[in-house]
Amino acid sequence: MLLDIKQLEKKYTDKQYALKNITFQVAKGEFLVIIGPSGAGKSTLIRSINQLVKPTGGNIYFNNEDVTAVTGAALRKLRSRIGMIFQHYNLISRTNVLKNVLHGRLGKVSALTSTFGLYSQEEREKAVALLKTVGLEEHLYKKTKELSGGQMQRVGICRALMQEPQLILADEPIASLDPKSSETVMSYLKKVTEEQQLTCIVNLHQVEIAKRYATRIIGIRAGEIVFDGRPEALTEEA
Ligand code: ADP
Ligand code: ADP
Repeated sequence: MLLDIKQLEKKYTDKQYALKNITFQVAKGEFLVIIGPSGAGKSTLIRSINQLVKPTGGNIYFNNEDVTAVTGAALRKLRSRIGMIFQHYNLISRTNVLKNVLHGRLGKVSALTSTFGLYSQEEREKAVALLKTVGLEEHLYKKTKELSGGQMQRVGICRALMQEPQLILADEPIASLDPKSSETVMSYLKKVTEEQQLTCIVNLHQVEIAKRYATRIIGIRAGEIVFDGRPEALTEEA
């Protein structure tokens, strides 16, 4: 099992659980959408997987290794296998598209090399090829601040892929996008997940879009799982 989450719990304060009794497994190749209203705990859940959030209880096994127990170099190594995509893209706006994607290699190259922005020809070619697959080959040298939101998120996808991750975590990747760009971004995310035989976990709050792309949906409310199953089984109450 790629990911095995057991009795995960998170309390930011003493009063309230942000996550409670979260247990599920994710197999390689799944395109899992976590759905729920704002404040349900989606972000906390996804960020617990790469330890941007420290859970207060339970375990998360990634390739049979408990991520809640690792620190330092082991944690960096683990994070290098998990690509992250953010709602607000988190790109370097003054830097061009190609370099933003190459930055995805930071987890792999030495600090010295990355400081000077030196990348191998092979890495450059890989970055260009990734940008082609998401239709950005004509924008390689544009600064990312000149792009539309949908284009920026496609850069975000390429940067995550540049890490050669096993798992992609996308935290509300389309929450800032218009409907058309949202479809484009979701389509590319689904396509690369399938083509590269990756596994993807996406936080969304739009049920319709979730149903169209997910191979499986987990619904959460007030920090607890209220639905886990195939998209067609999701009803309005869940
Ligand atoms: P979602 O992503 O579904 O909107 P979150 O995981 O962001 O939900 O939030 C779940 C709950 O945890 C909410 O009640 C939120 O206010 C709370 N929360 C999130 N981050 C923090 C934090 N850093 N400190 C305190 N409470 C937080
Ligand atoms: P977004 O919708 O972009 O995730 P949020 O407003 O939910 O933004 O959260 C922004 C930041 O504030 C996150 O780092 C989150 O962990 C933190 N946060 C959310 N809710 C709380 C809270 N109740 N107390 C403290 N920090 C919070």
